[in-house]
This record gives sequence, structure tokens and C-alpha cells, in this order.
Amino acid sequence: MQLLPSYLSGSWSPGSGTRQTLVNPTTEAPLAEVSTSGHDFAAAFSHARAVGTRELGALTFAQRGALLGALAKAIHGAREELIALAVANGGNTRGDAKFDIDGGAVTLSHYADLGARLGSAPLLPDGEPIQVGRTARMAGQHVWAPRHGVAIHINAFNFPGWGLCEKLGPALLAGMPVITKPATATALVAHRLVELFAPLLPPGALQLLVGPAGTLLDHVGPGDVVAFTGGSATARTLRAHERLVAHAVRLNIEADSLNAAVLGPDIELASETGALFLADVVRDMTQKTGQKCTAIRRVLVPEARQAEIEGALRERLAGIVIGDPAREEVRMGPLATAQQLRDVREGIARLAAETTSIFGGTGEVTPVGVPAGKGFFVGPIVRATPTPLACAALNDHEVFGPVVTVGPYDGDATLAAQFVARGEGCLVSSAYSDDRDWVARFVRTAGAWAGRLYLGSSKMASQSPGPGTVLPSLTHGGPGRAGGGEELGGERGLHTYMQRVALEGDASVLKSLLA
Ligand code: NAP
Repeated sequence: MQLLPSYLSGSWSPGSGTRQTLVNPTTEAPLAEVSTSGHDFAAAFSHARAVGTRELGALTFAQRGALLGALAKAIHGAREELIALAVANGGNTRGDAKFDIDGGAVTLSHYADLGARLGSAPLLPDGEPIQVGRTARMAGQHVWAPRHGVAIHINAFNFPGWGLCEKLGPALLAGMPVITKPATATALVAHRLVELFAPLLPPGALQLLVGPAGTLLDHVGPGDVVAFTGGSATARTLRAHERLVAHAVRLNIEADSLNAAVLGPDIELASETGALFLADVVRDMTQKTGQKCTAIRRVLVPEARQAEIEGALRERLAGIVIGDPAREEVRMGPLATAQQLRDVREGIARLAAETTSIFGGTGEVTPVGVPAGKGFFVGPIVRATPTPLACAALNDHEVFGPVVTVGPYDGDATLAAQFVARGEGCLVSSAYSDDRDWVARFVRTAGAWAGRLYLGSSKMASQSPGPGTVLPSLTHGGPGRAGGGEELGGERGLHTYMQRVALEGDASVLKSLLA
């Protein structure tokens, strides 16, 4: 069986120590192994600091953008191979795999274009010059300057392709060398991406660790950035990491999220906006088997419509074929790991204690085309609660699978926003209404509790990608439970990897620095 090597200090090496096996979550067949120790992390950090920083620092934004363009092209060239890896190692259907792989290419292309626009700017302005003296000669100007450190990227299991690219694009464009660490269980896609990317990048710009982080973070220092995506328990460990605390290392966290979808009181289910709402809920439940950080988990609907909506969800979900994701007719594959299956089952049991079943019971299924007893499968589940704001199992615990809970409300926009807030901070929440006053009231309160608010309406329904799709031009991240981080958002995404500095001096000198 293949022992996956890491790419550290400019060479591929499998490491040593005990081994961990990567499996196909549909069949549980072993696919590859990784070793859990034996890497020289001190040398990898030195390589990034000495070689990567110098090589990337010698390039303009436009030149680094061109490198990102080449990476996006490399993904296109190996698309089918990458999709096959995502199907085998991630339990992805072809559609799920495309979402991950194409999403990575789109994000890299976005940052390639941004690099071309930024050209050879030495610093990025942050706002306009400000008069700070008696006359206009004495001025202030905020700018973003390059940071001189290493970006350490730690990613979750669910998006091994997009997750790698959405962090890599902004960091490389900003000029920081990267050490990327995918989640071990689904590392095959990320490993192949780095095989494709490494020859296209300057020495030291990109390194890869496959396998557990071990002592990796013991080597971070001032100027470095750690960008993490994963569960809140791991996030807590990182926040308290002695080395990160001691050196005030910048830490960006993307963690759990109990995303809500709210149907406005003006919307009939048969309308265009009603159809958008239903399609978004069903897509978020089933795409990637609900293993999307942005997926809708909590659904709030006007009391008078609840029965109709539950009926429509039952009907749609009954048509979803679950099984081997390599088969064309299958719309939903397994969860990605055995641990995921345990966690999701535990989450369903918690919900079952406080809610009633509308569809799918506790998730037992007989998957199509899968040997009996094999695979990490759970079916889509809809639960209901009469008291959505008071239901602790719904609002306090993220079930990272194909599960939503529906509850009623009286149609009040502020109450709808309070429901969003009850999740204590989410990546995205959505509201579906064609009533602008209702939407305005909703946004005023809900805005504090979400990184992104998706406002579904009849005017945008025909071109909407849904709330679950993260766009490189908009920020991704959310307050509170979601980790408090922020990524992407076009040029904003570079700021994690740069330092804002307030310059103060002669106005003409400040102007020349930005030329
Ligand atoms: P996880 O168990 O927290 O793992 C995430 C990553 O952290 C993996 O690469 C893991 O490596 C690594 N890791 C674990 N312990 C570590 C430590 N002590 N030091 C350094 N790295 C460590 O999360 P997951 O199960 O992969 O992902 C599921 C969670 O991610 C869900 O809760 C979901 O909400 C969240 N998520 C959030 C977003 C977002 O954008 N906000 C996106 C996707 C997922 P190993 O795999 O080697 O253990």
C-alpha cells in the first residue's frame, strides 16, 4: 500500500513512526497510509523563512498572481484524476467532488486576477490619506505591508481541495510561504494537489505535511500566521497553545456553525422564493452528505406553513438515492470517516431526546451498491421542535451531517433574527422574503451573529448558488461559535497575511511610498 510522503524542506519524505490508514468510506477498503512522526519541522520552518520568504518577496503581486493562475490550470489539467480521488477517499458523489475541486480552481483564479490588478504595488493602501497636522503637509496613511513569516494552514476533512486552495491563494499572493496540513483521513486530494503545485512554485513557497500535526506548532514564532479550519474542541487547544500565546502568533479560526434558514411570512411555498428556500434546504442537507461548514442546520418557518413545508421536505428527500457515490444514480454518499459516523449518530441521539421525527428516523439506510454492513452511511433526517429558540440540542450542538430541525415562529423579523443569534455566531444564515421592510428589520439584528447573510428573494432566485457556496469575492468566517475568523473576501483575504501599519509624515513622502 502507498505510504504517502510529506513535502518538506524541498523533498518528498514519508517520515517514520507508527502508521495511520486512509480508507474508502464507502467500502472501508484501505487506500494509503501516512506515518505519524519522523519529520524535521525545525528544518521545514527554516526552509520557508530563509528560502520561501526570499523567493516570494522578490516577486510582484502580478507575478505571484501568475503563479496562482498556473496552479488553477494544473487543477483543470488533472480534474478527472482529482475527482476520482475525492470519490474514493472522501465518499463524494461526482457533484460533491466537483464542488470541492472546481471550487479550489475558481478561488485560485480569483486571486490570480487580483494579483494582475494589484500589479507591482509595493504596499497596499488602506483608505485615503488623512491630514493629521496643522496643514495638509503633515499626513497619515494606513497601509498593508508584507509580513515576514510562515503561514501554517490546518484544514478540515470535508474540503481537502477547496480548503487547501482558499487558504493558499491569499497567502501566496500576499507573499507568505505556506506549510499546509490537510486532515489526515481525506488527505489524498491535497497530497495530489501539492504534487501538481510544487514544481510550479518557487522553492520554499509551499510545503505539505500529511499525517498528524505532532509538534509542528512548537516551531511558530513572531510574524507567523496559523489559519485553522476544524472543530471547536481543536480550536480551543490551538488558542491555548503555549507557543502561539507566547509569541502572539496571529491565529485565524474557522470552526463550528449552526447556520439557520428562515422563511419570511410573506412567502408561499409555491412561489419562486419558496421554491428557492426548499431547494437550498434540500441541497444543504444532501450535498457532501451535509458535511459543509456552511450547511443549513436550523430551519424556522411561519407556524401556518410548517406542515406544508415538512411534507415538501419528506417528498424531496424520499427521492434521494443513497449509496456508492461512484454510481451515477446516487445523490448522497457516506460520511467521510468512522469517527464522523459516531459523532453524527451521537448528535442525532441528542436531537431525538428533544425533537420529533419528520423524516428519516435516526438515519438507518440500506445504501445502493455497497457490500452489506460496510460504509459510514446515514440517511437524511428532518426533526421538528415546537420551541425552536428553547431547544438546546438544536441550538448548542452542530451535527455535521445530513440533518436539519424545523421549528415554527409567528413571522416577526426580530424573532427570526434572534433565532439566528441563538446559534451564538455562525458562518452564514439565510432569510427568504420579498418584503424589503421585513428584510431590513431582520438584517439589523441578525447582522451581528453571522459572517454572511444570504437574502433569498424572487429577484435573485434564478441565479443563486445558495447559501452553502462560499464565494472568493465575499468574506468567509463568522463570529462566536464559528471561530471569529475571516478569510477570502477578495483583497480582504490578503490582510490576514499582511501587517496594517499607520504611516505618519510628509504627505508627499507617503504618496511616493504607494507609487
Ligand atoms: P478537527 O478534528 O478539528 O480537525 C481539523 C484539523 O485539525 C485536521 O487537520 C486535524 O488533523 C488538525 N488537528 C487536530 N488536532 C490538532 C492539534 N492538536 N494541533 C494541530 N492540528 C490539529 O475537525 P474535522 O473533524 O477535520 O472537521 C470537522 C469540523 O470542522 C466541523 O466541526 C466543522 O464545523 C468544521 N469546519 C469548519 C469550517 C469553516 O470554514 N468554519 C469548514 C469546514 C469544517 P488530523 O486530521 O491529522 O487529526
